[in-house]
Amino acid sequence: MARKTKNTDANGAPVKTKRKRNYRRRQRNTSIFFLLWAVFSALSFLIVLLFGVTQQMVMTQTYKSEAARELSEKGGKIETAILKTPSSEFGGNRSALIRYLAMHYDLQVYILDETGEVLLPQEPDLDQNREELDETFDYSEEIETLKQRLTESGDSYVIYEGVGEYVYGAKISLYEDSEVYLYVAKSLDFIETSSKQMRVRMGLVTVFIFVLSFALSSAISGWFTRPLTEMTKKARQLARGDFDVDFHGDDYSQEMAALADTLNFARDELSKTDRMQKELIANVSHDFKTPLTMIKAYASMIIEISGDVPEKRNKHAQVIVEEADRLTSLVSDVLDLSKISSGIDGLKLTTFDMSAYLSEILDRFGYLRDTQGYVFETEIEEELYTRADELKIGQAVYNLIGNAVNYTGADKKVRVSLKKVSETEFRFAVTDTGAGIKPEEIPTIWDRYYRSAETHKRPVKGTGLGLSIVKTVLEKHGFVFGVESERGKGSTFYILFPAAPPQNNFV
Ligand code: ADP
Repeated sequence: MARKTKNTDANGAPVKTKRKRNYRRRQRNTSIFFLLWAVFSALSFLIVLLFGVTQQMVMTQTYKSEAARELSEKGGKIETAILKTPSSEFGGNRSALIRYLAMHYDLQVYILDETGEVLLPQEPDLDQNREELDETFDYSEEIETLKQRLTESGDSYVIYEGVGEYVYGAKISLYEDSEVYLYVAKSLDFIETSSKQMRVRMGLVTVFIFVLSFALSSAISGWFTRPLTEMTKKARQLARGDFDVDFHGDDYSQEMAALADTLNFARDELSKTDRMQKELIANVSHDFKTPLTMIKAYASMIIEISGDVPEKRNKHAQVIVEEADRLTSLVSDVLDLSKISSGIDGLKLTTFDMSAYLSEILDRFGYLRDTQGYVFETEIEEELYTRADELKIGQAVYNLIGNAVNYTGADKKVRVSLKKVSETEFRFAVTDTGAGIKPEEIPTIWDRYYRSAETHKRPVKGTGLGLSIVKTVLEKHGFVFGVESERGKGSTFYILFPAAPPQNNFV
């Protein structure tokens, strides 16, 4: 199985892999402004609500316990005052004393009899027969509760929450003949009033918050979307082929800066591809034109001059055949590359003996050894099996050896090796003794359409597409490959093959 490895070049930098991109369908999504506004409003509203509810709860609780504390303190004092004040004070008028105490402590103070009738303070000026007064001074229900609480607690006095008020109650012996009750109450109306006020305030705060979050969201979303809108505009320009656009994001956030960097990178890549595409057309047309011109020239020569001289005619016809071959290989390279990179031609994986296959490929270069003095030094370990698309791998290896032949030095030496590096991997390497590759050109040589500016006389036909085919084939397999090169000393191109157990493919 082809192992998925990250492709790296000789410097360890990952070789960029082209990915299929799916453009998302245009959707009518909510705007950032609305989202921000909704989030802000909801959040602030939640905070106000939480704050309000806790405030109200805490406030009510605090007020109540404060009322209880106040009552227990003041109730005791009132009780003592009533019982201990000598009758000479207040002119012996207990009603006046009680009214004074009620006013002084800001509480309701009554002396009630067993039935809940108000004994003190007496209001001689009031018409006792008026019905509403009966109601106001009817403490029959309250006295029942008070009596019950006193019995339950067994204490001399009780403090409890009654209907809308807090009550301090005690049984006192004011008159020798009968028991009466002291009833001190603090109304809880003020709690209701304060919470009503608070609700109104909270309502106002909520409205204010909505307005504020609207303003904040517009400001923030404007701040967020401005660079996006700008970048979208520029990206459109870029899509129309304007490679001069520059994306800025530094004035905004880190993420915007990263997006701008990515877009600038995309622009550079696009412009590079665009430039290379134009160069390819120029190169390919030039490469097509040269053999065509030669074919035409030699054909004319045959017609006009050498047609009757067999020796010359054959030589000229031979040139025509060679040039036609060059054209054919150029066309097939262009076709191969477009087929491989468009993925029309899927990988046909088989397990094969790479050692044997490499020897076979090397045999194809035999004519160079025999006729032009090339020296192939080989170091091939036997029976190294891999699983891959045999034909395509063959093409990649052939291109690499072809390049080594083309670019090797005057000694015409090319070293080819295939060695195990671990139990799971073996390495193919082809080394030449040529001028090497400039470090800054290394990342570019794999690019489609790239050809070094330096012109070269090549014994093997080159189209400028060879390494691009190698890269596409190896990336499709997920194999690690790369180049190590030293100026003036030569270059080594290598491929790491995953080892596979030998397998009979016909089963
Ligand atoms: P071609 O060899 O047909 O120009 P390739 O795609 O095979 O196209 O190679 C691209 C470029 O990479 C070459 O033009 C050359 O500049 C450089 N190159 C490839 N192999 C070597 C090598 N072994 N030594 C030096 N330069 C090389």
